[in-house]
Amino acid sequence: MSEGRRLMAVHAHPDDESSKGAATTAKYVAEGVEVMVVSCTGGERGDVLNPKLIDDPDITRDLAEVRRREMARAAKILGIRHTWLGFVDSGLPEGDPLPPLPEGCFALEPIEVTTEALVRVIREFRPHVITTYDENGGYPHPDHIMTHVVTMSAWRAAGDPTAYPHAGEPWQPQKVYYSAWSAARIRALHEAMLELGQESPYVEWMQNLDKRPERTITTHVECAEYYGVRDDALRAHATQVDPDGNWFRVPLEVQQRAYPVEDYELARSLVGVDLPEDDLFAGLPTDLTEADQLCRREPERDPEGEPVVVFRAPLPQERTEEEYSAHAAEYDAQEVGDEMTEVEGHHDRDRRQPGQRAGDDGTAASA
Ligand SMILES: [Zn+2]
Repeated sequence: MSEGRRLMAVHAHPDDESSKGAATTAKYVAEGVEVMVVSCTGGERGDVLNPKLIDDPDITRDLAEVRRREMARAAKILGIRHTWLGFVDSGLPEGDPLPPLPEGCFALEPIEVTTEALVRVIREFRPHVITTYDENGGYPHPDHIMTHVVTMSAWRAAGDPTAYPHAGEPWQPQKVYYSAWSAARIRALHEAMLELGQESPYVEWMQNLDKRPERTITTHVECAEYYGVRDDALRAHATQVDPDGNWFRVPLEVQQRAYPVEDYELARSLVGVDLPEDDLFAGLPTDLTEADQLCRREPERDPEGEPVVVFRAPLPQERTEEEYSAHAAEYDAQEVGDEMTEVEGHHDRDRRQPGQRAGDDGTAASA
């Protein structure tokens, strides 16, 4: 029974909620879960990535406002509630040496300021479960990494009555997840396209898969039914997503057959779990009042002040240079498309450092 449960998804920019875990949120909404998406920044430093809209003066005049309208449309399509944390997009620094981050941006805000803002939203919405990105941010955009840092910091503080006492009544969400574009998903979609004799949009991702640390996927949420809703939400971010781009190259029914789940990595759990699992709320009391009581109770803390957890994600294994080279050799001969980073789904396309291989920054493997 999901009725009345509350799920919060913390994202960096408007459109990330539609490219990462969107079908999961749509599914839970359909089951009666209240879902709140938090966008830490307004995506103000984004570029227009849809070739059909690139020179539209109405868009370039005030991209931030256009993105607010796009976000509102996507929220309606997904059926989620949405709130802005109100911080300013840090942009993706480019050049060698890298320029400093722009003054006043999200990634440079003092951690107490960003944490308090999110603690306030957590204590008001009172989620039982939170999703965010892993410690690499899914890929190393300063806002994505900071989204991870702030979410973990706010998760730690939200249930502590001595932390930010003016930011609401303490509330301790019981589980935190990292949303993932797993290697298994990319492989399955890639192979399904090749089996059909069609061009795979994942060649470049495949090439870089083994270079990423392997994540431990703990949770597969069945949500294939909502892939169409996810695509509609993505298309609502019209300035950020090319409707003829790679996002939409794998036919819906192929995706639904080849990989009908979205993947998550359980980061922290205060309740007992039985892994792998297929529900973000697994382990929580089925009775809503009991689940709420659990979140109102102050967790035990270790000497560092961390809530004492029943489960904590292991740190990912780094691949050795030899392991990576052996794998990359298989793919180097293949033609690598240049559009892949578009799959990332927002404003950071084609901003690799000079001399850097496609996907070295992880963009090609994150979406
Ligand atoms: Zn983003």
